[in-house]
Amino acid sequence: MRSSSPAVGIDLGTTYSVVACLDASGRPETLVNTEGDRLTPSVVLFDVEEVVVGKEALKAVVTEGEHVAMCAKRDVGQPVYHKAIAGKQYPPEVLEAWILNKLRRDATVQLGPFRQAVVTVPAYFDEVRRKATQDAGYMAALEVIDIINEPTAAAVAYGYQKGLLAKRTTDKRPLRLLVYDLGGGTFDVTVVEVRQRELIALATDGDVQLGGYDWDQRLVALAAEELAGQHGIDPREDSTTVGRLWFQCEEAKRMLSGRDKATIAHDHHGRITRIELTRSRFEEATADLVDRTRFTVSQTLAAAKLQWNQIDHLLLVGGSTRMPMIRNMLRELSGQEPDASVAADEAVAHGAALYAAQLLGHGSNDVGRFTIRNVNSHSLGVVGMDRITRQPRNGIVIPRNTPIPVTARRVFHTQKENQKSILVKVVEGESASADACTPIGQCRVAPLPAGLPARSPVEVRFHYKPNGRLRVRVQLPNTSTTNDAVFNRASGLAQEHLDGWRRFISEQETGPRA
Ligand code: AMP
Repeated sequence: MRSSSPAVGIDLGTTYSVVACLDASGRPETLVNTEGDRLTPSVVLFDVEEVVVGKEALKAVVTEGEHVAMCAKRDVGQPVYHKAIAGKQYPPEVLEAWILNKLRRDATVQLGPFRQAVVTVPAYFDEVRRKATQDAGYMAALEVIDIINEPTAAAVAYGYQKGLLAKRTTDKRPLRLLVYDLGGGTFDVTVVEVRQRELIALATDGDVQLGGYDWDQRLVALAAEELAGQHGIDPREDSTTVGRLWFQCEEAKRMLSGRDKATIAHDHHGRITRIELTRSRFEEATADLVDRTRFTVSQTLAAAKLQWNQIDHLLLVGGSTRMPMIRNMLRELSGQEPDASVAADEAVAHGAALYAAQLLGHGSNDVGRFTIRNVNSHSLGVVGMDRITRQPRNGIVIPRNTPIPVTARRVFHTQKENQKSILVKVVEGESASADACTPIGQCRVAPLPAGLPARSPVEVRFHYKPNGRLRVRVQLPNTSTTNDAVFNRASGLAQEHLDGWRRFISEQETGPRA
């Protein structure tokens, strides 16, 4: 069904966020924010009277670092952001909600009021993080019509750009893309096959704790060593100085993508010291980070059961792929020239907007209906007790890289005679030890029919949706006991808190800076 809502895609990045929309001719375009920029820093400043998001907040890292939250996306899935801000603890999804709220308000200036949007997530985000991202959208008064994996969104943008999604596509040959996505705080690799307007993820892997920010930190350490060794100054003693140094190092890092040297003028209590940073030292200091991504790329290719000569394009996405060390490594590893033809920072949002148009039923002359088929990035299982060791074990129900949607079942057994209830604990992760996995939630099935013998079968059914969200159903074969309603999540904010934050954040719209 066609909706009159604009087709909006939001790339909620760790360091920068981007909003895109389809223009009148159905072409994706990046919206500029109220500061006139295409990229909005994903930074939140809790000032005394107001909450400020974006460029102003980023500047405040230097002057009032203790009031600023950066890289909240990295903490999504944890109960609280890793540091208190002005003495207060915030759930990371609340910080993400502030960012989304700013993006929504700024987009409203151009689009008029709208609610619906597709929000992107790293392919390697687990179920808990996906749910938290949807919750952030809710608190920002958005209706998240779907979440889409960032590399898949980039592949959609690429497919659009190359005419692979066109209504009358003539090319019947499947095209295989390896999407290497290194942003500010997360890293994803996905192998996607594009076949007749169908995008099929074959394998995915990544690291939600690896991105440009880690490269920045290495440069900060290099600069700090230089200052300590040559000038007897340790800038790490003071949080404001560290904030300023980070700011300068991030800029120097960008310079080093185009030049061999960059200089920082460090101001220590009025004394200016020049530090020279070279590309070769920077590359040496970050070689292990590049290696981590190289390893993941090789593993993903192996999981897709492909060789490099079966990959048609190695697609670069994310601002950090501008670093020559990344391109050199990929060139050497794959024997092919990486393809930087999509806009590294904007392709993800563009793909999300194209997908939103599809979901909203917007017709387009250029794009036919396309479908996306994903795989799950983490195994999903149920905690069972090992009969011999009596240790909690992860009984995997859906192994990673399984095409989704999928419905899978596994039979477990009650432990003792006349058992009154069963607790089904759902975990996500690859380890056989349940303690090493991430708890997703649990369902208690009670009461069980009286007189049930020990080791009665209990069937657990998982339905894993295309967007990586889960539904669980528990059934006792040959009885009428079924439970699929009460799946209590192990983490995340309760509905009343979500509503409270939603109200609070929207009230700011009528506040001083609205
Ligand atoms: P994204 O989330 O894709 O916008 O990526 C943001 C990250 O890309 C940040 O860590 C930036 O510092 C980094 N970045 C952007 N441009 C460059 C560049 N020219 N060289 C190195 N890193 C860059």
